[in-house]
Amino acid sequence: MRSDGAKGRAPTASSNNVETGGKAAGTPAEELDAASGPDYEDKVTKFYLIPPMVLSRLYDDFSSLVGDKRTRLILHQAGYRCGSKMAEGLDIDTADRELMEGALQELLIQLGLGVLRIEEYSGNRVVVSCVDSNEARAMGKRDHPACNFTTGYIRGLLEGLLSVKFNAAEEACASLGAPKCRFVYTWPA
Ligand SMILES: [Zn+2]
Repeated sequence: MRSDGAKGRAPTASSNNVETGGKAAGTPAEELDAASGPDYEDKVTKFYLIPPMVLSRLYDDFSSLVGDKRTRLILHQAGYRCGSKMAEGLDIDTADRELMEGALQELLIQLGLGVLRIEEYSGNRVVVSCVDSNEARAMGKRDHPACNFTTGYIRGLLEGLLSVKFNAAEEACASLGAPKCRFVYTWPA
């Protein structure tokens, strides 16, 4: 099925069947076919984007209740759970490093958290950069790295896919004035 104006092949939140055109979307048989296909692209559409303003408001509300440090852990953990959940059911050959890196890059693009790009994928280290992090933009200037949910989300995704425990750190953040955010994930060699 092809629709005019559809950009690229990456599925987005707009694929939720809100069609207002006069043309029928397809026969029931075709729709059933599309819905039941357990392929990679079907699975990666099944998540919801979180408005970044929600994250900054959660941060402000939680930090007034339990303090900054715990709040950052809470947001990291919330992101981690979302990333882990996203990884569930994805069928990617993680033993093939090139395939895994390509699939991971594709997933990162679809998160809606910013322009995420794998800078390094080697040995026991994965480095992801983010230009225009939505979370940093919503958080504004801070005196600490601000993309806690994003850091956790990527960690959850990586751990879910690779079944390895990672250390995670946001080593540069736009909220601290860096040109882009930089997330570093390492695990024991
Ligand atoms: Zn950041």
